[in-house]
Order: sequence, then C-alpha cells, then structure tokens
Amino acid sequence: MSDSFPTTMADRLAAIRARMAAACDRAGRPHDSVALLPVSKTFDAGAVREAAGLGLRRFGENKTQEIRQKAPELADLGLQWVMIGHLQTNKAKEAARIAAEVQSLDRLELAEALQRRLDLEGRVLDVLVQVKTSPEPSKFGLAPEDLPALLRAVARGCPALRVQGLMTMAVNSDDAGAVRACFARLRTLRDQMRGEGIDGVSLERLSMGMSGDFELAIEEGSTEVRIGSALFGARDYGA
Ligand SMILES: *Cc1c(COP(=O)(O)O)cnc(C)c1O
Repeated sequence: MSDSFPTTMADRLAAIRARMAAACDRAGRPHDSVALLPVSKTFDAGAVREAAGLGLRRFGENKTQEIRQKAPELADLGLQWVMIGHLQTNKAKEAARIAAEVQSLDRLELAEALQRRLDLEGRVLDVLVQVKTSPEPSKFGLAPEDLPALLRAVARGCPALRVQGLMTMAVNSDDAGAVRACFARLRTLRDQMRGEGIDGVSLERLSMGMSGDFELAIEEGSTEVRIGSALFGARDYGA
C-alpha cells in the first residue's frame, strides 16, 4: 500500500479529480472544462461496473473485439464505448455498430469505410482526428501537414462523421518540456484549423493526456484526459 496509489477505485478517482482540478487552477481554467475518459482496456467487465458505480459512463477501449466481449455483461448500464486505439479498416463495420465515438480517426480510407457502414446502420458517429505530434515511429496518427486536407475531405464526403476535435498521444519521455511541446502542437494546430473555418467541422475538443502526463495536457488546453492505469491499476497484457 502506498500513498501515491490509493487502494480503492473510489479513492483513486477522487485523487485523479483533485489533480485535474489543481491543474485547471494553475492554468486559470474552470474545473468543468476538462472531462475524464476512463480507459478500461485489458480490465474486465467487473472493473467497468465498479467504475460505473462511481458515476462514469463513457469508457475508452482500443479494440472493437474487447468492447464486444465486455458490453453484453454491462448492457443494463447504458454505457458508451469510445474507440481510442488504432482501427483497421476491416474493423470499421464493427466500430460503426458498437462505438459511440471514435477518437483514432487517422486516415481518409478509414473515414470512408466508417461512412459506408454508418450509412447502412442509419447512424452518425462523433469522431476526433488523431494527429501524430510525437517523433516516435511507433505512434499512430495523421501527420500534422495532412490535417487540413483530411478535414476538408471528411466534411465534403462523410456526412455521418461529426468531427468534434483532435486527439494525440505525447512522446513517452521524462522530459516534461518535450511532452508539453506535443500538447502545445495539437492546440496550435486546432487553432490554425479553426482559422480556416471548414464547414461542418467543429474543433472544440482536444483529447490529450494520460495517467503519466495529464496535468501537463490540461495546462496546455486539453478538454479531456484519457486515464487508464491511474484509475484501474497496472495493466497485465499477458492475461
Ligand atoms: C491505454 C491508453 C490510454 C491510457 O493510458 P494510461 O497511461 O494507462 O492512462 C490513453 N490513450 C490511449 C490512446 C491509450 O491507448
């Protein structure tokens, strides 16, 4: 047991919320300007149910298959599933059916595949465009210079996709300056894109910040932080 990792989920949630509020205070932002998206990937339906009992309703997952496995057991709760992981085009059909939102839209081919499936389902989908702000080759996301063309193409050709904003993952580094620069990059891009006034594209939301860097993200303008391990505990990928 350690002070830095409270033992109950309720205590961990309270600690995260307190840190979010303190970061908002430092940045001179209202506390309700930043939402919390719990990331439940690799955690079972029981953990999600416990989090739902604490008032959380939207959950981030990175595989459609994992949503499909957990959702039936949790059907009584009316939860919303948010795709935050890399989405293969052949998974667009499933995402269009079970996701309330996709934050990992990173290419036109995926947008068009989602559009086709949403048409068939008679649904619309909120999306964020994932932008690569980090130099790490392992990170997914659209190159910043390709953003204007993608936003225009989606606005023109994908009416079932409602673009709400941008998402990014910062560089995985102990250098706070380098992490902060990734978040600042996303905010600057958003401001530039707003200046272009693309019809049908709203860029209110900036999804940035995870367990290890969410306070920096809030200071740089994040409107939602995606928190997994600080809430649910360490992930066991071997399970
Ligand atoms: C896993 C994941 C998170 C949460 O990571 P933690 O460090 O556990 O908070 C956030 N965003 C994305 C895209 C992820 O894949």
